[in-house]
Formats: sequence, C-alpha cells, structure tokens
Amino acid sequence: MSEPIRTLAVIGFGPRGLGALEALAVDAMQRGTRFKIDIFDTLDALGAGPNFHPDEDPLCILNIPVRILDIDPPACMSNQIAPFGEWSETDYEGDDFPPRADLGAYLEARFHALCQAAGDVFKVTNIKAKACAIDKKDGWHITTDDGQYGPYDEVVMSLGQPATKLDPQMGKWTDHAEEHGLDLLPAYPGTDLLDAAHEWQDKIVAIRGLGLSTHDVLRLLTVGLGGKFAGDSYQKSGREPRKILPFSRDGKPPAPKPATAEIDALFDPVISETENFKAALKKAVGQAPDDALKTICNALVSPTLRIIGACDGQPSRERVEEWLTIEREDPGTQDIQDTKSALRVTIQMAHQSIPPSEGYVIGQIWRKFQNELRSAFNSAVLEQDTAIAIVGFDEGMKRYSYGPPIEASEQLLTLINDGLVSLQAVDDPDILMEANGWRLIEGDDALLAQAMIDAVLPSPNLESVTAPVITRAMDKNLIATVQEGFGARTQPDGSLVSPDGTVLKGLCLLGRLSLGSVIATDSLHDCFGASTHRWAAGVASRFT
Ligand SMILES: Cc1cc2nc3c(=O)[nH]c(=O)nc-3n(C[C@H](O)[C@H](O)[C@H](O)COP(=O)(O)OP(=O)(O)OC[C@H]3O[C@@H](n4cnc5c(N)ncnc54)[C@H](O)[C@@H]3O)c2cc1C
Repeated sequence: MSEPIRTLAVIGFGPRGLGALEALAVDAMQRGTRFKIDIFDTLDALGAGPNFHPDEDPLCILNIPVRILDIDPPACMSNQIAPFGEWSETDYEGDDFPPRADLGAYLEARFHALCQAAGDVFKVTNIKAKACAIDKKDGWHITTDDGQYGPYDEVVMSLGQPATKLDPQMGKWTDHAEEHGLDLLPAYPGTDLLDAAHEWQDKIVAIRGLGLSTHDVLRLLTVGLGGKFAGDSYQKSGREPRKILPFSRDGKPPAPKPATAEIDALFDPVISETENFKAALKKAVGQAPDDALKTICNALVSPTLRIIGACDGQPSRERVEEWLTIEREDPGTQDIQDTKSALRVTIQMAHQSIPPSEGYVIGQIWRKFQNELRSAFNSAVLEQDTAIAIVGFDEGMKRYSYGPPIEASEQLLTLINDGLVSLQAVDDPDILMEANGWRLIEGDDALLAQAMIDAVLPSPNLESVTAPVITRAMDKNLIATVQEGFGARTQPDGSLVSPDGTVLKGLCLLGRLSLGSVIATDSLHDCFGASTHRWAAGVASRFT
C-alpha cells in the first residue's frame, strides 16, 4: 500500500519558509514521502520576503560580503539552480556587498527550482492570504479573511517580524504626524522612502536609530538623490535634505566589519579554539546564568589574546578579562566614545591601520562563532534564566558582530565631515513635538526636523505583536512566551510549547518570534541552517 500524502501549511514564506521546505525536500525525496503543501503569504516573490524583495531599491544592501554568504542549495537541487555567486548576472567580487534585491530575486528563483526538483514529492499551492487564526480539530485548520483551510497534519509559522504595537514614542509621533500632516516614515520599503525624499530638499530630516538600517537610509538620501561619494568627499546633487540628524539611545554606531578578506582572516579562530568554544557552550547550556556566561567568556580569552598579538597590539589578559566581565554584567554598555571618534577609530581597526581593541576582536570572534552558538543553544532546552542571559550577551555583542560594510561607515564619516549629517542630537536627545516637526534638543543645541524616519526594528517581544494569527493563538494557549519581552517557547525542532508545558504536536514556529528558545535568528545563515533541518526531522519523526 502506498504511503498517504501528508498535508502541511507554511504560514509566511520568506527565506526561512524556503529554507524549511528545502530541508523537508531533502528528507522527503530520500524517503519518498509525499506532501501536499499550502503556502500562506500575500507577498509575491515567494522565498524573498520583504527584506530581500526583488523590487526593493538596490541601495539597500546585504550586511555580509559575498565571500561569507554560505547558503548554497542542497545537492538535490543542484541540477535546477546554481549558488548565488554563479546565478547572479552581476560578477561580484568576494568583498562585494550585493543589493538585497538581487539576493531576493535569487531566492525567488530558488523556490521555483525547489518545486521542480521535488517533482511529485511536493504539490505546492500558494494561498495569497494572511492567516488570521489556527485551530485544532481533526488536524490543524487555518482561517484567513476569505475562508477556512485544512485539516493539516503539520503547520509551521515562519512570519519574520509581524506587525507590533507601536512603542510609546512612535505612538505619540504617529498621532502628531497625522494631526499636522508631517512626514513620518519607516525606513522600508526603501523605494517608498526615496519617493518621499524627493520632497525633502532643504528640509531637516531626523533618523531614529543608528544601526544597519540607518546606513541604507543614508545611502537613499544621498546617492539615491543623485549625490556621489568620491574618495573621502561627497559631491552633492543639490536634491538632498538640508541636514540629516541621526540619533539613538546611546549615540553609538556599530563597528564596521574588517575591510578585506585578508584582514578578516586575522580574526579566524584556530581549530583548537573552536573546539574549546564548542566544549564551553556544551557546558554553559546546562549551567546557571552567571556561570554559563563565565564559561563562555573564558573560552574567548585565549583567541582574543592571540589575535591582538597577531595584529601588532599589546595583548593583556587583565584587560581582556575585564572587558568580558563588564560585558557580562552590563551587555552592550562599554566602549563609550563620542560618535565620531568611535566611527573613526573602528574604521581604522577595520583597515588594520591601528591594532584592534579588545571589544573589536571579541566581536569579530563572536561573529565567527555564530554557527557554533546556534548549534549548541538551539538544540538544547535551557533553563529560562540561562537562555535569557546568553541571548542578552549575544544581542549586546551585535554592535561588533553585526557591523556594516566598511564603506558604509566611511560614507557616514564623510557625510559628517561634509556637514550634511549632523551629530548635534545623536546621543539620546530630548524631542519635543511642534506643529511643523520634531525639535531635537541636546545640551544647549536644538534643531527642528520637518521629517522623521524610523529606522528601528521592533523587538521580537511576543506580547507586543498585534498580528491576529499570533494574538489568537496566545488567547487559545497555543503559544507561551519564554519570558516577558522575549519570543515563544519552542522545542529544538520548532514545536510550540503551550503555557502548561504541553508540546503541541504538528504546530511549529521558526525564527525571530521564538527568540529566547533560539538565538541569533536575524541572519540568512539561520534561515537555511540547522534549525530548519531539525524541524524537517521533527516532521518526519511524527509520521513514523
Ligand atoms: C531591513 C532588514 C535587513 C536585513 N538584512 C539582512 C542581511 O543583509 N543579511 C542577513 O543575513 N539578514 C538580514 N536581515 C535579517 C532577516 O530578517 C533574515 O535574514 C530573513 O529575512 C528572515 O526571514 P524570515 O523568512 O524569517 O522572515 P521574513 O523575510 O520577514 O518573511 C516572513 C514572511 O511571512 C509573511 N507573513 C507574516 N505574517 C503572515 C501571516 N499572518 N500570514 C501569511 N504570511 C505572513 C510575510 O509576508 C513575509 O513574506 C535583515 C532584516 C531586516 C529587517
């Protein structure tokens, strides 16, 4: 007797939904298991999601260079599609940071390649609707605005970052902007931002946030409006805003990545250091929070000392240990310098024209250990406090480990020197709402911004999500939070755990909304990494 056809619903089909189906295809093609799959997503370009949408402005770029992008298709698809570098019509150098849109076009093509490769193992239908509710009756059922679907043996949610409640500041500003007809825009889609920016010549424009998105925004407000960077100068087109005022809660810009492959290689851990780090993680996931962080930090000391020495620095065990102690106790708060000095100094470190600081080295090692970190953390079930401590440490390290391309930091410095970008209000300014804009006050200085751009990504705090599919699932006790401010409780294979501790068979959640159960989710490498394979193995195990 032939095996029954399994039914699966995938809610949300950005890169992670694609990664999950690829992992499932590998397993299903080996076993000959057949699936009828409904994909719920209203976005076109299935596989790309909003952040990599092929129609996004090409000035919005990937935050890792092509040489590091490690998302090659599985062997079962190799006749259908090549790796990104070969597939793209652009002849990228290893150190290039491609437009996210180009990668999105690739992911969309890869989805079609997957459907071809899977043949009659997958029968895929795209339901162009938002899932609003999930119910369990005879199997899982999904409700959209237009109808009911199911029953499904399995449902996996890969929603990225769905709509959330506005934070109090944005809530007030949104009402204020509506009342006075002011421009208050999100950073994305960059195409919409650029359209609006054509009306901002001679206006002062503020940007909330000083992270990676701010670099996309600055590129749109300069090069996007016809300006040109030449060496360390900027040639205005005359269509730019009069002034751009970025600001954040600490005024700290993220440190750029090492400038070239050669410099980046200086920060590579050696095999014994990686093994040592893996062993430390294995121990740490079973420890109490303070001990866990100490165990992890201890494994960072010797590679840091070795690398500082190799980069012509003065390695000091005492300084490295002190840096790690402060970072453990107060993640993300040290290395205070004024914004411009921090930019200048970290740019020099990225070029290796000065020796790297303890923080810079530890941050680069931490970036290189992200896969080991995910692998140990995501496959274990940790005590809640330990999980939160490790996630907090990782989030704090992002100012070094998720840095922008060096060119982006250099362009920011150029714009500051040029005067187009002002740091007058960069460090947590007081902001007053006035009828014609937002007055940013820092010390004795005040400037009125007529337009405001929000470049801050909402937090994955599950309780502030407003998407009905999540709020209703929480109301029905299908989702429990790891802890206030964090994501959903899931098992290593993505299965949701209800508030009473029951593992919900066949209902899974992958990605950012389960931060706390998993770590380091905001990366393409995670979308195509071990989490999706664990999910696929979980699906297979439930059928056998
Ligand atoms: C602006 C930005 C830039 C980034 N740049 C990089 C980068 O350069 N490199 C990198 O590695 N990572 C980057 N990231 C991290 C990025 O989030 C991940 O790499 C990746 O996009 C996550 O994919 P995902 O599928 O989990 O989520 P998404 O890509 O957000 O996809 C989620 C999908 O779910 C759909 N959806 C949501 N709710 C529902 C519903 N109720 N019903 C049906 N469908 C629904 C959405 O329409 C969407 O298509 C970036 C993130 C952002 C926000």
